[in-house]
Amino acid sequence: MLNDINLKKYELENGDILYFSPFYNKFWVNELEQDLELEYYPTDLTDLRIEITYNCNGYCKYCIVYGNEIEKFENLNMIQLVDSLKQEEWFKKIKTILLIGGEPLLCFDQIEYLLDNFDGEVRISTNGTLITSEMAKKMAKRNVMVYLSLDGPEKEDNSMRIYKNGEFMYDDIIRGLNYLLEENVRFGIFTVSTKHNVYNIVEQMSKMDELYHPDRIGYSLPHWTKDNSYEVTASEYGNALVQLYQNKKAINAEIMQLKWRLKPLWDGKIKKYSCSMHTSQKTILSDNSIVRCSKIDHDSVFGNLSNEYFNNCCPMVLAANNNKDNNCAKCIALASCGGGCPYDGLKRFGGAIDRRECEITPQLLEVAIKDLVSAVNRDIKILGNGMLKQEYIKGVLNKNG
Ligand code: SF4
Ligand code: SF4
Repeated sequence: MLNDINLKKYELENGDILYFSPFYNKFWVNELEQDLELEYYPTDLTDLRIEITYNCNGYCKYCIVYGNEIEKFENLNMIQLVDSLKQEEWFKKIKTILLIGGEPLLCFDQIEYLLDNFDGEVRISTNGTLITSEMAKKMAKRNVMVYLSLDGPEKEDNSMRIYKNGEFMYDDIIRGLNYLLEENVRFGIFTVSTKHNVYNIVEQMSKMDELYHPDRIGYSLPHWTKDNSYEVTASEYGNALVQLYQNKKAINAEIMQLKWRLKPLWDGKIKKYSCSMHTSQKTILSDNSIVRCSKIDHDSVFGNLSNEYFNNCCPMVLAANNNKDNNCAKCIALASCGGGCPYDGLKRFGGAIDRRECEITPQLLEVAIKDLVSAVNRDIKILGNGMLKQEYIKGVLNKNG
């Protein structure tokens, strides 16, 4: 049985054994009194992404729109779109809408129509340069969540974020950010991992956290582009995430890429897919077409791959099939990894799993589980035998637990 093959054992100081099953994402001490159950996160449709425009006032060096010469469409007509979506049964299930571009705030009049006609949560991913005081007021009133791109606290940290004439966007980003702060708009800072910040990310994030108090900070690997000379390696990024995990108490904001990878451990659940493009999320492009992912579905080869193909490529399925070409069955991150971005997997590795994950998630989990072992050693008298409670695991692995 797969669970037995992959079972991890940690000897405690008093001779007890802490077991971890990466197949079920469950921990227990010595003996199990109950059968383990596979608990998957739900994959029902709840989220919509709208790529409202591919136009942008900026020209960031790692941008996937410019980097991959993505086909341009006109800006989306939100009135037409929202009115037609209201006729669709599936739209009634949508709880969040993320607006993304290009630069969505080029179409703020269209966004206002959405804010007035959709009751769920609206999130806007923006370079921040176009935010005005009026926009911030409207966003605050409607409780919008803004994801603002900022690669570090200082101007020189943001040298990849430039306008077409080569000038830095930084001063305009900070002006926009200050409007968000003045109006108490909920926001997160989104930082792209680059050679500029990957070796001092704890210091950079701590400063941004202290200066601006964002709710969340994202620290993402850029997607594949033709020119990848700016990229950090998976190993550099993986080490940066470990540093962030080890210093998580110094940063108040939730660090999203840590949470995605560690939450399955404290929930005791299985993350089947990292990307929900063919499950809980739909994407609408500015020509009103509905796709799974604009990058995949516009590719002449990848666009023909079926949902079944993507279902069968996830680590849990590969492991269950005992596929000899992959290490998922033996991996500590089996139920936490989700396989990374399928587009990056297809472009970089010829299959829908982004194998950079194999250098990122397992090493992070090893460090986190080492912390759990130390905590269990300390608390073993109270914990006793049997399954570890999910709340206990959360308390050890998550600063807010
Ligand atoms: S990290 Fe790699 S080996 Fe481990 S489950 Fe994910 S894809 Fe498979
Ligand atoms: S496949 Fe990758 S690029 Fe496409 S939606 Fe998913 S995470 Fe984004």
